[in-house]
Amino acid sequence: MTSKVLILSGDGIGAEVTAQAEKLINNLADRYGMQVALESGLVGGAAYDATGTPLPEETLDKANNSDAILLGAVGGPAWEQLPFEKRPERGLLGLRSELALFANLRPAITYAQLADASSLKSELVSGLDIMIVRELTGGIYFGQPRGVREAVGGEREGFNTLVYKESEISRIAHAAFAVARKRSKRLCSVDKANVLECTELWREVVTEVGKEYPDCELTHMYVDNAAMQLVRQPKQFDVIVTTNMFGDILSDIAAMLTGSIGMLPSASLDDRGKGMYEPVHGSAPDIAGSDKANPLAALLSVEMMLRYSLGQPQLADKVGSAVKSVLDKGLRTIDLYRGEGVVVGTEEMGDAVIAELE
Ligand code: NAD
Repeated sequence: MTSKVLILSGDGIGAEVTAQAEKLINNLADRYGMQVALESGLVGGAAYDATGTPLPEETLDKANNSDAILLGAVGGPAWEQLPFEKRPERGLLGLRSELALFANLRPAITYAQLADASSLKSELVSGLDIMIVRELTGGIYFGQPRGVREAVGGEREGFNTLVYKESEISRIAHAAFAVARKRSKRLCSVDKANVLECTELWREVVTEVGKEYPDCELTHMYVDNAAMQLVRQPKQFDVIVTTNMFGDILSDIAAMLTGSIGMLPSASLDDRGKGMYEPVHGSAPDIAGSDKANPLAALLSVEMMLRYSLGQPQLADKVGSAVKSVLDKGLRTIDLYRGEGVVVGTEEMGDAVIAELE
């Protein structure tokens, strides 16, 4: 059966890194007979410029009709002054919520070859392999009411709402336990139950769900401690499950443990295996258009797509091994370069991974 993949390049380096990912998918199709039909669409600032909205109906229709979506990145200074609803990021958030992609899987792996590129001592991070499972369609990023209003006394006040239904907490907890079962069966749930009632409920529900997974060890940690522990002794964690906003922040901390945000893929899944795959990094306007972007996060996003949505675990393994071989050979984009190896550009790194596929 032919899998339908929608490519949404977005803005800035999004276009550069998805071009490498597209080349990789086409190569896998030619080389191994993978049946895949690629389509493209507009999202983010590029979509706003062309259509006046960051998430056109046409893109949403295409996304609904595909098996998987590969997204580059959205945003940039050109669109920062737009009203909130027109900003590129709303395109991304809209896709996640319209497609009910509630489970965001963010692996943070420190490749032995890159342990020196981390901002922490290499012995603290070498061999690190964490999976952060972030709730993606609820919480304070979506809660109503929200806005800026006039407060008593005439000054402005900004407000947002942190809200989670029991069912939302329980489905992300189940997703996280399922991931933990495939790994070391250790799950740490991160909340702020000592201050926020909403996450007190989070803790209660995760604990209840945990009773259905007696083979897994469940622990709880407050988010401020989790941030500290991630930089103090990151290898103590295996799978972390947390809310939308805490996951957003903790996964960026985990990103830096691995040496570069340019190495980190992510998957956002619905409850039937459909997924949107995207690098964790943004559109990097500071390096856009200069062939400096590291395409490995995008290529590793293809690896996750092959594994979780396209039913091609062997091809996923091939992509993973090809990335390791390229790093073994000393090829480095500028973000990974620490004085050893050879600096290559985006295009050259993409070609090198494809050359290693055999
Ligand atoms: P960013 O991730 O774009 O960049 C942060 C730093 O990391 C920059 O110095 C950048 O050059 C570097 N970097 C990022 N990706 C890289 C790669 N692949 N290779 C080499 N270096 C890389 O974050 P930011 O600067 O905070 O945001 C820039 C824009 O991207 C903003 O408009 C923001 O809203 C948007 N953004 C989008 C997403 C997304 O689409 N998922 C995520 C984060 C930020």
